[in-house]
Amino acid sequence: MKSIEAVNHYFNRAADELELTDNMRTLLLTAKREVQVQIAVEMDNGELQTLIGYRVQHDNSRGPMKGGLRFHHEVDLDEVRSLASLMTWKTAVVNIPYGGAKGGIAVDVRKLSDRELERITRKFVDELHDIIGPDTDIPAPDMGTNAEVMAWIMNQHNKYHGFNPGVVTGKPMDHYGIPGREEATGRGVGILSLKMVGRLGHRPQTTRVAIQGFGNVGSHAARFLYEADCQVVAVSDISGGYFCAEGINIPEAIQYANEHKRQLEGFPGADKITNEELLELDVELLMPAALGGVITAENAPRIRAPLIVEAANAPVRPDADEMLTERGVTILPDILANAGGVTVSYFEWAQNRQFYSWNLDRVRQELERVMTVAFEEVWELARERDVSLRTAAFMLGIGRVGRATVLAGIT
Ligand code: NAD
Repeated sequence: MKSIEAVNHYFNRAADELELTDNMRTLLLTAKREVQVQIAVEMDNGELQTLIGYRVQHDNSRGPMKGGLRFHHEVDLDEVRSLASLMTWKTAVVNIPYGGAKGGIAVDVRKLSDRELERITRKFVDELHDIIGPDTDIPAPDMGTNAEVMAWIMNQHNKYHGFNPGVVTGKPMDHYGIPGREEATGRGVGILSLKMVGRLGHRPQTTRVAIQGFGNVGSHAARFLYEADCQVVAVSDISGGYFCAEGINIPEAIQYANEHKRQLEGFPGADKITNEELLELDVELLMPAALGGVITAENAPRIRAPLIVEAANAPVRPDADEMLTERGVTILPDILANAGGVTVSYFEWAQNRQFYSWNLDRVRQELERVMTVAFEEVWELARERDVSLRTAAFMLGIGRVGRATVLAGIT
């Protein structure tokens, strides 16, 4: 099943509950615009490289389109399409005034120098500057991109359209960014994980956690849960998994990764396991926070965690989702769980427009408020309609986008 088919599957399950007509489904599922561009750059060694970049603008009925930029060698149009659609439902679930979009370049960033990364980013903006902007489509970081990349995007866009920091979010703190943006997705995931732990009758102190992915999202979620007294017994990254039955010292692991090119290879505070073994550990909470599609019909029967929190986008395939739900595993879906990043991006964008800054405490408070309201709405709807949290989250998002679309008038 392609990634977009997986998202559409979840959409249709919720659309059935909402009794949406076929015509309305087609309208809501069809992207507004899909762009593929050529990015021709000279590498440091003088060789010419031609890359492919994408921007899919899925929906703008509730506001400017919003979504990350992924630089990863596996990026393709199918993946970008599915992630753009997820953004539409995600911004609607947390009820911020945005639509959905996503972009990416098929490139292995690990093989690029900083100068090459900058040239590629600026070239991408040269190709796209007319269709992105603070009132139309606002990119943000995702896998393989960071605050520095966002600063280059702002600078390059401003050369064409004049000064406007609101064209992109996730910028560096010293360059129109907001405190707390970098931690926001992981922190939001952590806040909702603790709520789920409580709802399922566990206490943090007796909750063992396994986290796949130790990048921006995984490491911040790990720190939040560690500080909340959970036992984070396993973490992993592209170099493999790291397990310690007594709980990993997460601040030490973060420091180690920071000192070793953001990787845990050789981390002394844990035993080495594989990424596959991590997913199958005997823990109370499993958190995929790296790639999509890692929990499949093949490994689902071996998953032992009663609770999965989707920190990554689309980590559970639909067939696995069905098998796990049947077995009574609770899944907190991506469009709710990892919405903290786009929420704080919204705060950053709003402040860029007002030239006014909040401090970190205020950002954290507002993040918690927005995430909590969305969580309670999804939880209540799931109980009321006797559906999974994923279906309830999609129902909430589709309802909001559908109403905005109809209210705007379709002629
Ligand atoms: P990142 O690039 O900072 O980190 C990715 C992590 O995954 C790294 O630790 C990397 O080593 C690891 N990884 C890569 N390939 C792997 C593999 N094959 N097996 C195991 N681990 C692997 O990315 P991120 O920003 O933390 O994003 C992680 C996920 O969260 C993605 O699915 C992304 O779409 C999603 N997400 C991110 C944000 C955000 O604000 N950054 C917001 C919402 C959702």
